[in-house]
Amino acid sequence: MDLQAPVKTAGQAYKIYAKRLEKLGITKIEDFLYHIPFRYEDYSLISKIGQIQEGEIVTVQGKVTEIKNQYTRRFKTLQKAKIEDDTGLIEVIWFNQPYLAKNIKEDDKISLSGKVEKNLNKLTLRSPDYEIYNENVQNELIHTGRLVPIYPETKGVSSKWLRRQIYKFLNLYQFSEYLPDSIIKNNNFVNFKTAMNDIHFPKKIGDVEPARKRLAFDELFLSQLSALKRKRGWEQKLIGHKFKVDRKNLSAFLSQLPFELTNAQKNAVEEIITDLENEKPMNRLLEGDVGSGKTVVAMVAVYICYLNKFQSVLMAPTEILANQHYKTIGNFLAPLGVRVHLVTSNNKLRKNIDFDVLVGTHAVISKKVQFDKLGLVVIDEQQRFGVEQRAIIRTKGKNPHFLTMTATPIPRTVALTLYGDLNLSYLDEMPKGRKKIKTWLVPKTKREDAYTWLKEQIDKNKSQIFIVCPFIEESETLVTVRAATKEFEKLKSEIFRNYKLGLLHGKLKPDEKDRILKKFRDREIDVLVSTPVVEVGIDIPNATVMMVEGAERFGLAQLHQLRGRVGRGDKQSYCLLFTEIEENNVVKRLKSLEILHDGAKLSEIDLKFRGPGEIYGTLQHGIPMLKIASFSES
Ligand code: ADP
Ligand code: MG
Repeated sequence: MDLQAPVKTAGQAYKIYAKRLEKLGITKIEDFLYHIPFRYEDYSLISKIGQIQEGEIVTVQGKVTEIKNQYTRRFKTLQKAKIEDDTGLIEVIWFNQPYLAKNIKEDDKISLSGKVEKNLNKLTLRSPDYEIYNENVQNELIHTGRLVPIYPETKGVSSKWLRRQIYKFLNLYQFSEYLPDSIIKNNNFVNFKTAMNDIHFPKKIGDVEPARKRLAFDELFLSQLSALKRKRGWEQKLIGHKFKVDRKNLSAFLSQLPFELTNAQKNAVEEIITDLENEKPMNRLLEGDVGSGKTVVAMVAVYICYLNKFQSVLMAPTEILANQHYKTIGNFLAPLGVRVHLVTSNNKLRKNIDFDVLVGTHAVISKKVQFDKLGLVVIDEQQRFGVEQRAIIRTKGKNPHFLTMTATPIPRTVALTLYGDLNLSYLDEMPKGRKKIKTWLVPKTKREDAYTWLKEQIDKNKSQIFIVCPFIEESETLVTVRAATKEFEKLKSEIFRNYKLGLLHGKLKPDEKDRILKKFRDREIDVLVSTPVVEVGIDIPNATVMMVEGAERFGLAQLHQLRGRVGRGDKQSYCLLFTEIEENNVVKRLKSLEILHDGAKLSEIDLKFRGPGEIYGTLQHGIPMLKIASFSES
């Protein structure tokens, strides 16, 4: 059997399922085997009917002596059956599943698992799981009478159906061990076949952990291996553009910046120069906390590219960020004669226009945008861009250099696995003079005081304030917008009556967003109320207070990124976190922000408290999802 074959080729019956299964990430036969149960129902206690007790979760096995449909009012149905073994008889009821009366026949041997209840003084099984079996055929029970795996479902694909498929494919496939004996021995691994069988159909619950451990190892090992393979492919096959770097010119450029680069920035610039001087195209990830100054580093690369008479493109995930980069880069480079242009869905590139640098959203990968000589691609906040988008932009030039930037703090183990094909530069140092952002989790009772303090900040310190509303849904929907609007109205009419307020959310027209941000930047707005969309990248030096509502809904790494919106200038900045939840765990988690100011450390804590799903949640698209490995060292 070919595990790589698409699901729909497995037989007629699978054709209708193919679309639904996509939602579960199952497109190839192999994906069934990697659809991992999220828990197991323990139906392993098999009892004689005469011995069962009320309240027990049991499996009974016997002969069907009666099965019938009973109609109730409102066209509902009941399915009633009687099951007998040599010690007694039990009644079984299901609801609204008339097909059961066809599937189950009198004299069938049936195995039933569920909770024993008392109904009119008789012991009954209500809606038990069931399966028909034949004593003469060697046929393992999979839905009853054992530890039963429970799978993530989707509409039209039940856990039971998945269980049947997975069982079938597990038995059809010949697993062969591919790891060397020594690795297996040294790590006390179970073999591949055992691991696959035990993760789905464990004989006892103790079998699950060793299976998970083995499969997690394979997953990490294989994804590192494939990252390395990509890296080698990139290095061996491609020939790109070898840039010349005029050191004199470069230091003149750097010396007219309003600040000196941090050592971390200098190192990153050196690493990038080395890459650019090589004929193999650069493929580098620039990782650094918010505010660590990634943009300038990218700008140096862009400038070098320009001096070599090549074009560059810088892609940002949002319109706001694209605008900001456009302004920054334009400010520094335009006076040197560099032609910088902005491209977004609202700001199309005019025909036949000449440019050296394009800054934009994913609109830059549109077919209409053509490059004569693309030499460098810079991608900001890379987790928002998928692999395909990278591939498309690559075709717009001949093996351009790639620089990807991210502020998503990812634990090193994760970075190595997911980005093993990229070379890493890490900005582990903040620009001089940055003060730590003082952070407090504010107790409910202090809310009024907090508002008073905020007004003082505006009056006395001429500060500006962000108020971020709770994270309600993954993508910005009307629900989120409505919540922010409501909060905005309340603050405006009650708390900040004498101040200038602005509202920012993702459903605003781009030019409206820009207008509001411009007003905020020009200090025409004191308090900017916003949905969590402001999370990435905005740079407003005079904003010194970040207040976050419903903080418990965010991951720590996310909160850290939000907090990074302030503390950009040299004034002391503050972050106030509010939560309605006073559970110990929540408070403890949020309080770590008061003491920790290192994004990578905070993301490790997220991992501990909220599990890997959270981290991958923030990583978003374009990242291979790990299904088994959790990265927490256990
Ligand atoms: P991020 O890494 O989050 O993208 P930015 O590139 O937006 O950070 O930089 C944040 C702010 O820090 C900007 O206002 C930028 O001008 C400033 N900055 C960058 N590098 C330095 C430096 N070496 N010294 C002082 N300020 C700097
Ligand atoms: Mg940035």
